[in-house]
Amino acid sequence: MKHSDIFGESVFNENNFKQYLNKDSFNSLIEAIDKGNKISRELADQLAAALKSWALSKGVTHYSHWFQPLTGTTAEKHDAFFDITSEGFPLEKFDGAQLVQQDPDASSFPSGGIRNTFEARGYTAWDPTSPAFIFDTTLCIPTIFVSYTGEALDYKTPLLKSITSLDNAATSVSKYFDKNVSKVFPTLGWEQEYFLIDKSLIDSRPDLKLTGRTLLGHGSSKGQQLSDHYFGSIPTRVLEFMKELEYECLRLGIPIKTRHNEVAPSQFELAPIYEEVNLSVDHNSLLMDIMYKVAYKHDFEVLFHEKPFDGINGSGKHNNWSLATNTGVNLLSPGKTPMSNLQFLTFFINTISAVLEHEELLRAAIASASNDLRLGANEAPPAILSVFIGKQLTKVIEDLENVSKGKLSPEEKTDLKLNVIGKIPEILLDNTDRNRTSPFAFTGNKFEFRAVGSKANCAKPMTFLNAMVAEKLISFKCKVDNLVANKNMKKDDAIFNILRDQIKEIKPILFEGDGYSKTWINEAKKRKLSHNKSTPEALSAYLFKKSINLFSSLNILSQREIEARYIVDLQEYTMRIQIEARTLGDISRNHIIPTAINYQNTLIKNVRGLKEIYGNEFKKHATEQMSIIERISEHVAAINSGVNFMISSRKKANEINDPHKKAIEYSKKVLTKMDLIRYHCDKLELLVDNTLWPLAKYRELLFSC
Ligand code: ADP
Ligand code: MG
Repeated sequence: MKHSDIFGESVFNENNFKQYLNKDSFNSLIEAIDKGNKISRELADQLAAALKSWALSKGVTHYSHWFQPLTGTTAEKHDAFFDITSEGFPLEKFDGAQLVQQDPDASSFPSGGIRNTFEARGYTAWDPTSPAFIFDTTLCIPTIFVSYTGEALDYKTPLLKSITSLDNAATSVSKYFDKNVSKVFPTLGWEQEYFLIDKSLIDSRPDLKLTGRTLLGHGSSKGQQLSDHYFGSIPTRVLEFMKELEYECLRLGIPIKTRHNEVAPSQFELAPIYEEVNLSVDHNSLLMDIMYKVAYKHDFEVLFHEKPFDGINGSGKHNNWSLATNTGVNLLSPGKTPMSNLQFLTFFINTISAVLEHEELLRAAIASASNDLRLGANEAPPAILSVFIGKQLTKVIEDLENVSKGKLSPEEKTDLKLNVIGKIPEILLDNTDRNRTSPFAFTGNKFEFRAVGSKANCAKPMTFLNAMVAEKLISFKCKVDNLVANKNMKKDDAIFNILRDQIKEIKPILFEGDGYSKTWINEAKKRKLSHNKSTPEALSAYLFKKSINLFSSLNILSQREIEARYIVDLQEYTMRIQIEARTLGDISRNHIIPTAINYQNTLIKNVRGLKEIYGNEFKKHATEQMSIIERISEHVAAINSGVNFMISSRKKANEINDPHKKAIEYSKKVLTKMDLIRYHCDKLELLVDNTLWPLAKYRELLFSC
């Protein structure tokens, strides 16, 4: 089977529509996709008829609006095509109204207070820029999800708006260099890391089942020390899973390209060919759904949690991001001519400048309870945002920094064109040998945002990044136009002047060294970069004046919407820790303590027996047993008081109404107690008879593939 033969067979894209529509209708559809024009009722009916007839020919029985609410996962409500006419005839029905808008009773999704219960309903509206697809036997129609009062309740709505803003801003800047550019779109290629664990072992672990991570468990003697898993031969059972996964993905138009073993045992990665960002985000969300299902068939469970196991690497999802034009140019790729390189530098420097301005907001974009456990650990980029650009580009911007103020002499311009920007090679060698410790690295022809969590919906970090770059490009264009209009400067002189000023400003965010080192933490502090270790601290950036201004001025999110998202994310954080704390409390009390006491009883019986045999001499034979009996008592007591304390901290935290203060309390009081309980449980794991231990251990979980 060739991959190209099955690619996209379960997708209904523009080309498929072409076969069903006349020329005018098809052109109207393309205009709606490209320019966001409204789709008439008549056209919608034609489109619905085409979709229905294709879907029925594939044995599909149901359709569903498919959306991404603020839970971060996907949501679908299936309706059958089947209907009965007023005359009593059964038939399959699907018209334009049903395609374009639906009214699911979706009142239970998080809204951050936007919807009061009396206006609880939201509606979904078709996103024609992401094609419909067949998943199982349902026709899934990608949609946005908004409240009746017009506020976004999902991830797609602001993402689409950010794409439009960035298109407008980047297209007008591109026109400085090439008049033929009429559209710029952000591109995304994600690299999805995940763990695959035998399902039956997961079933013994309430923590993995309920929270996606191990809340306790002593490290395995062998972990990832030997680096023997990384890029190793893929285990046969896993390869079978991957093959089926790729087959399903390809049919759904997800262009999977790469698969390999990752660093930790049982950890893997897959990556697609990059796509336009909206489609790529949809594909990543769909991929995660497919992965759960395919894993299940292979008696695996897939873990997307950012830190499922202590002491070994967690998982991330690098977001490779760039900008492409309708003329086929990657704006973040150095070109062959000085002019194309000036264009490259313009987008390159503006992106860095945007990241510097909103570094705290970008940190907030990737904040979650689970990603907190990974960021700053030794395998993941730190919670401090910085940008790596490599030696060659560092030299280029150092040279550009010395450009004269005002008009450039012809000699200086020639020198710049020949010796600075003309010398940027098309392939940047040191950027392929990337600094792995950087959270935001330039990797030759794209930026790689590495701090994104494996479980995350990419829409949020992409929306934030698109927005901040759009804002920067708008301001860049304003400044350049101003110099041209008011200072009588030539366009390229003006561009050199503004870039020089920006280069002077971006220095604090540029960092080429080891992002994992302690010295960087101090250095970053001196540079006034933020270091928000926990989600509640990080999320405060949503409410910065400049953040609200960014989103509202570009019409991406209103103040009310951003405030709602702030509440939703804080509440999710608190609930995740609450679930973890409850689960750990249950496991400690219902699994660990009874097992430890059980074993202690065996030891006590043994000591009694020894006493029977040896009389007063027994101690000589029972030293170890007595010591274990004592240690078990100590650990059991510590767990018990730890759990009691954790429960009372939780109760206290629950009384707090302010969602920010509550989340802080959960982070500072509840989460920290969990570490202590875990410590004692893990000590018991080392003491207690292996045959009695009720939970699969790390060595079993991690080496089950
Ligand atoms: P790695 O980082 O593992 O060495 P690559 O750098 O080749 O792998 O690519 C990683 C991801 O970056 C892939 O998903 C790829 O499609 C994506 N990518 C490559 N070029 C671009 C681009 N211009 N825009 C967005 N993503 C890109
Ligand atoms: Mg990469």
